[in-house]
Amino acid sequence: MATPNPLKLKLRVNDLKQYEYCPRVVYYQYVMPVERKATFKMEHGRSAEDRLDELERRRGMRRYGLPDGRRHFHVWLTSDRLGLSGKLDLLIESSTGWYPVDFKETTGAVRSNHLFQLCGYAFLIEEAYGGSVSQGFIYLIPGDRAEPVALTDQLRIDTLNALEKIREMIRLQRVPEPTEVQARCTDCEYRNYCGDVF
Ligand code: SF4
Repeated sequence: MATPNPLKLKLRVNDLKQYEYCPRVVYYQYVMPVERKATFKMEHGRSAEDRLDELERRRGMRRYGLPDGRRHFHVWLTSDRLGLSGKLDLLIESSTGWYPVDFKETTGAVRSNHLFQLCGYAFLIEEAYGGSVSQGFIYLIPGDRAEPVALTDQLRIDTLNALEKIREMIRLQRVPEPTEVQARCTDCEYRNYCGDVF
């Protein structure tokens, strides 16, 4: 059994997604907790995921390209060693391995922040169940399709680096630069606090 590291600040897998999207979101959550409003996107995303849960329970594995598989919904995963935890939407247990599936209410393509989050889940699955997780899926709800994602060595390195950068930001309590993609600020629940952006 892995030895817990008491010095590691505990983070959530979701932090990886948020940090890649905009580091300030994670800053506001940990360093300067502020009230935030649930946006339409957040509420709509939750109900769409509930509907997908129901559909997935009745489906086969063809859309994942897997020969077989058993679905585990909303799996709580944690690692003391990595100081990381999170609840995965869907874990597929197949004769060919374990596959994390993250549901996204996102139009367009899979984004880099989705990859970081998926990789975080892969780390936790490997620690909980053993073996190596080589692939996962981002399920794009509006397009009703499961996009395969290779969990490459580079993605693993980048994800571990992101965890360390988040811890460093929290430790130093240093407000990070805003995202370079200003369009992301439009729907952001923290926009009232980013006076330098608007
Ligand atoms: S408003 Fe923009 S810069 Fe500020 S936290 Fe949100 S996404 Fe980041």
